[in-house]
Amino acid sequence: MNFNNITVAGSGVLGSQIAFQTAFKGFTVNVYDMNEEALGKAKERISHLKAYYQKDLGVSDDQFDEGFKRLSFFSDLGEAVKEADLVIEAIPEVADIKTAFYQELGKVAPEKTIFATNSSTLLPSQFAEATGRPSKFLALHFANEIWKNNTAEVMKHPGTDPAVFDSVIDFAKAIGMVALPLQKEQPGYILNSLLVPFLDAAEMLLIKEVADVQTIDKTWMIATGAPMGPFAILDVVGIKTAYHIVKTKAEATGQEELTKLADLLKTEYLDKGKLGRETGEGFYKYPDPAFMDQDFLK
Ligand code: NAD
Repeated sequence: MNFNNITVAGSGVLGSQIAFQTAFKGFTVNVYDMNEEALGKAKERISHLKAYYQKDLGVSDDQFDEGFKRLSFFSDLGEAVKEADLVIEAIPEVADIKTAFYQELGKVAPEKTIFATNSSTLLPSQFAEATGRPSKFLALHFANEIWKNNTAEVMKHPGTDPAVFDSVIDFAKAIGMVALPLQKEQPGYILNSLLVPFLDAAEMLLIKEVADVQTIDKTWMIATGAPMGPFAILDVVGIKTAYHIVKTKAEATGQEELTKLADLLKTEYLDKGKLGRETGEGFYKYPDPAFMDQDFLK
């Protein structure tokens, strides 16, 4: 399978990053979104990426602009996918919106077109039928700040054609990603299957008052050689996200410790504007967090 023309559907946070990175690596990219207003925002978002590509990758103005020139913008789905070899879907994480989108896409896309979803939490088998071409459908999941956090988790559903899977792995590599194949469907892919239980365990140690934040992080860092402990990672993820996850679980299970943890995150962090790294303070204070201190590991 030869991929030349790529369409990215949904040009929000992740869609605009995927679209630009793909164009930057030499592919012709059509960006599709609902209307001109959304596309206008996408152009702005992509222009803002320039500073990051310059700072993080040392890219010149010209190199960035060359990438930008390979992008075209569409609010008509049929036009956007007319020649697409691959459509990467990055529309909202709402099952009904995705199902309706795939039903429409399946009708207007050429037979050859492969579809990939960037969904973080929904499994591809949920939409396979709606695509009308289950064997040409799979998940291709990127991380935020794709140009430097360059993982691409490529995940089959039971009906994905192995040749399609292999070709999407090759494509991910061609756009500068480290491709990580998942042979079976797994909620949370590899990263979140590891990370979420790890962070949960750290939060439980804290709320049960087994140890404080710094002792927990220090233990992990010294014992494994990792550069950050779980609470430093939570500061990067953002305490708002952590709070929403804990609160949802607390409501679903009624578990007392989870309720206590949700209250702690709200009163001690969110209400005080300590949202994590993005606001300069969470479990640690930035830009010089204690865990980076030379004496922290002593
Ligand atoms: P977002 O809300 O920033 O962007 C969604 C975009 O889709 C918007 O531009 C919106 O106008 C557009 N849209 C809405 N309905 C549409 C439709 N029917 N057809 C076409 N476009 C439509 O969302 P996001 O954060 O970029 O997330 C998009 C997908 O990527 C989700 O599935 C999410 O799980 C996944 N994802 C997000 C992140 C992240 O860190 N934000 C990371 C990995 C994966």
